[in-house]
This record gives sequence, C-alpha cells and structure tokens, in this order.
Amino acid sequence: MSFVAVNPASGEAVGEFPDWDERTLDAALEQVAQATPAWAATPMDRRCALMGKAAEVLRRDTDRYARLITQEMGKLLREARAEVEKCAWVCEFYAEQGPAFLADEIIESDAGRSLVAYQPLGTVLAVMPWNFPFWQVFRFAAPALVAGNTGVLKHASNVPQCALAIEEVFREAGFPAGVFRTLMIRASQVKRVIDDPRIHAVTLTGSEPAGRSVAEAAGANIKKSVLELGGSDAFVVLEDADLDRAVNNAVASRFLNCGQSCIAAKRFIVVDAIAEDFLARFKAGVEALQPGDPMDEATTLAPMARADLRDELHRQVTDSIEAGAVAVTGCAPVEGSGAFYQASILDRVTPGMRAYHEELFGPVAIVIRARDEADALRIANDSPFGLGGSVWTRDPARGEAFARRLQAGCCFVNGMVKSDPRLPFGGIKRSGYGRELSRHGIREFVNVKTIWIA
Ligand code: NAP
Repeated sequence: MSFVAVNPASGEAVGEFPDWDERTLDAALEQVAQATPAWAATPMDRRCALMGKAAEVLRRDTDRYARLITQEMGKLLREARAEVEKCAWVCEFYAEQGPAFLADEIIESDAGRSLVAYQPLGTVLAVMPWNFPFWQVFRFAAPALVAGNTGVLKHASNVPQCALAIEEVFREAGFPAGVFRTLMIRASQVKRVIDDPRIHAVTLTGSEPAGRSVAEAAGANIKKSVLELGGSDAFVVLEDADLDRAVNNAVASRFLNCGQSCIAAKRFIVVDAIAEDFLARFKAGVEALQPGDPMDEATTLAPMARADLRDELHRQVTDSIEAGAVAVTGCAPVEGSGAFYQASILDRVTPGMRAYHEELFGPVAIVIRARDEADALRIANDSPFGLGGSVWTRDPARGEAFARRLQAGCCFVNGMVKSDPRLPFGGIKRSGYGRELSRHGIREFVNVKTIWIA
C-alpha cells in the first residue's frame, strides 16, 4: 500500500509514498532511541538555538510549504502562508521562553535546599490531523524538543508530503539525526508504537474515536498522554452585542479553513431579541463567499479536504433538515469536480437533531435560538464538547461573567477563538485533556522532579 496525496480542489492524485514495513519502522524507532539521551543532555541554549533555526527555515521557504499544504488539503493559499508563519512564531516563542519556563524552582521546605527541576520524559509520539498540517505538528514539536524530548510523528494519511516536509525543516535547521522523525505508518500501527518501550508518551490531535483508542493504549502502558479532540464551540450573541462586529467575526470564525477547525464557531446561539437581525446580516456575509481554486487569491471558500468528509457532512445536514432544521442558505455540495460544499446556514436547530449534538466539521453554521442570556448559557453548556467558545456583548463585565460560567477550555469576549503561543490551549469534557502552548504546554511532557538536600 502507499499514501496517496490527492488535491481536493481537483480530485487529482499529486503524490504517492510507500508505507513503511516493520523493519523500516523498527530502524527509525531505534535511531530515535539512540539520539534521545544525547539530546536530553544537550544544553538548553543549544536546543533553543536550533529551534530558532527551524523558524528561519520556515520563513525562508514559506511559499513552498504553503503550496504543499494547499495542494494536499485544500485550504486557501493565504491561510496556508499564515499557518507556516505561525509555526515560525511558535518555534521562536519556545526558543526564547523555554529556558524561563523550565528553570529550576527553589522551594522553601524543611530541607537545607529543595527545588523542582523539569526534565524530559524521552520520546513523544504525536498522532496528528490534516486540518492544520504544519501548525498542529509544530505546536507539539517546538515545546517538546526544546524541553529535551525527541519526537516521532504519525501524520494523517492524506498529507504525506507535509509529513515529510516537516521532518526536512528540522533536518535543515541542523537538529541531530533522530531527534525528530516522521513515521510513514497507518492508524492501525499506532498501538504497536505506543506499546514500544522506546516510546515514553503520546499526544493526539484528532477525533474522539482516535483519541479513545490512543488513550486506551497509553493507559494500558501507563504512559503520559495529551488529547486535543473535537469541539462544537458556542458563539453566543446577546441582545446588546455590536452586531456588525459579531457578524464579521461569525463569518470568519465559521468559514476559515472551510470550517474544518476544532475551534471554529459551530453553534451560533442567538437571543430572540436580535435573532432575525443577526441572521439576515449573517446570511448576506455567508452568501458573499466565493468557492474556487484555493491557489487563487480571489477565492474566499476553499474545498473541503476530502470528498468522503464532504459526503458525511452532507448526511449530517440532510438528517437535521429531515428532523426539522431550516436550510437558510447552501446545504448542498457544489456541482463539478473537487470536494466543495456550499457555505451553509441551518436555522431552528433543536435537541434531537444531529446538528445539535454532533460536531459539523465543514462550512455549515447552525443557529440555535435562546430566550435570554441564562437560556443561552444553558444551551452553550448542553454539549458533550468543551473546547472553546465566545460571547458577544457591549458590556465587558457581563462578557467576563459569562465566560467564567462557560464549560470550555477557553472563552473569548468580543473576539473569535484562536490559538496563541502565549496562552494555554486545550479542552474539557469530550474535547480531551491536557494543554498545549504557553508554559502549561511545555510542562506536559516533563518529569516535574523534586530534589531535596539535607
Ligand atoms: P482523525 O480521523 O481522528 O485523524 C487524526 C489522526 O489520528 C490521523 O493521523 C489519523 O490517521 C489518526 N487516527 C485515526 N484513527 C486512529 C486510531 N483508531 N488510532 C490511532 N490513530 C488514529 O481526525 P481528523 O478527521 O483527521 O480530524 C478532525 C478531528 O480532529 C475533528 O474532530 C477536529 O475537531 C479534531 N481536531 C482537534 C483539534 C484540537 O486542537 N482540539 C485540532 C484539530 C482537529 P489516518 O489519517 O491514517 O486515519
């Protein structure tokens, strides 16, 4: 078998890479195991300098990497460039902040001297998705490698060129051989890698079923795991919101990356008093989106990453319409080649419909009407997910009080949910556990070691 990269805008195959056999996999794991002690012993300054070089490589070849991303998973080229730029930022961020985040902490106790030291765990396996094929990997790799861990990547099967290009970034930056390797393996081989004694921890970004199976294998081996899973973020519009601002952000937050973002606004919970006004403006913004070639700067709606994902999204939409949801705009695939789906809005979504309970991972916004603020909060929290959310109100104090009561890993007031290297990122409930980014992210894969001296 081989990994085939398909351009989702055209449906054409653009690259083919052979699967690894067991011998090749074993040799790669052995190379990483050999490199691990020396990397852990490499001074922090040196590790940070190399991470700074990785940022330089990304900046030097932004356009080439961005084109690979767009060709393989379809996002708009300008979004792909921004993604590569953000990867350079996270590399620089940890190159600069890593030493402070992991500095020894002296703690007063009954000892003559006691302290906490942060030490690497060993080799971390990263199982990653295709939706931000560079960013998801760098936000794991930058802190993990700066902390002194080595990393192996099992990337999504539909982005093999990106998977290999990321390994190349670290090689070109001058990282020693074996500090970061891409494994060309299938999902069915992930358990075998977690079981391997040369692997010490695992992180997965992806769907709930994948998360459950990785967590099971990690649990059976008593290995540390972090899970970044799906989300169905609420976008709550209160009656005192600045509607123009809310609508502009609603369109951006739902349709960025063709709606295929874990932290996209997915449930638009709008209080009755302004629901019609919001919906009319939102509809106009959504209908202005132009599907087309994602390499073309004029295009504003990209294709979805794969035709099978588009078809499953359409089933979620049609099942919800059969259950009583109202199609305001779109709600059908775009005719012709490529995995395009119309920019869509489903209104009057209520409990019992698939769109109410499931994540819609594509360009479909759902609107849920709420009586008032208390009702909006109840609906926002009535979700199996707890990744992010936002609230829109002209009163920042009211927004903050709402944010504190939202069951999620983050809540933005009058801003669209986004990740930022300086702020922790992650979920609660079935959105997963653990945190990435910030000082919290770099401390996930370290031994928090107490040293006590009489
Ligand atoms: P996915 O099917 O779970 O794939 C993610 C990765 O897991 C891929 O590398 C995949 O490999 C692998 N995988 C799938 N099943 C597995 C299993 N049983 N055991 C081990 N590995 C397995 O998810 P996706 O469709 O690519 O991504 C969409 C989902 O990811 C959405 O739910 C989205 O919300 C979530 N997501 C979350 C975040 C976050 O930060 N919380 C960020 C982005 C996306 P193959 O490709 O070979 O199947």
